[in-house]
Amino acid sequence: MHPDLPPLIELQELDQKIARLRSELAQLPVAKKRVEGEFEEAKQKLHKAKLEQQASELMRRQKEGEIEELRRRLARYQAQQLQARKNEEYQALSHEILVVNGEVEREEDNVLLLLEKADVLQANVKQEEQKVEQAEKEIQGKRKELADKESRLSTLLGETEKWREAKKSDVEPALFARYQRLVSGRRENAIVPVVHGGCGGCHMKLTRQTLLRAEAAAEIAFCENCGRILFVAP
Ligand SMILES: [Zn+2]
Repeated sequence: MHPDLPPLIELQELDQKIARLRSELAQLPVAKKRVEGEFEEAKQKLHKAKLEQQASELMRRQKEGEIEELRRRLARYQAQQLQARKNEEYQALSHEILVVNGEVEREEDNVLLLLEKADVLQANVKQEEQKVEQAEKEIQGKRKELADKESRLSTLLGETEKWREAKKSDVEPALFARYQRLVSGRRENAIVPVVHGGCGGCHMKLTRQTLLRAEAAAEIAFCENCGRILFVAP
């Protein structure tokens, strides 16, 4: 192998590691958002369950108020009935009392239904509260896990970038410039092994002349098709 190649192969390995670390770091905000979103969703569900409970309670109180009002009307009719002098008046009040009594019964049935529903809604609120509690316990662990991962990856990235800077000076400048051009075009694997007489990057068959050049190590060989730097694995 040409003596200029091993430092470049090492440099490429560091560049690939840097790219992997950066991509892993870029995933973290997505994971964070998902974790926070799950917690937020649990809280929203609890909020909704509480609102439903409050609305039902309010409706029950309204109905109870209406029943009281109906009972007052009933008492008024009954008092008027006691003082009625004419038979038609008495009959008319009897009819009103019957109608209002029917309304009271209907509203009382409604209140009973709402009381039964209140038990269900209360159980629902309790269940959602437990879920939020559980999610709250879990989220602290998840937040810490993600923060630890971020700090671990950032440290490793910083170290790898430093090694990469140090390694750069070991690479022959013209070769480094060529490598940089290839990397900026293709992002990674700018220097590739010869695989079964073909380029390890684009897989095109190499000419005999290029193969000989790659094997001889006196000169540096490039793929005629994609321009990648070639080496023969020892
Ligand atoms: Zn190629």
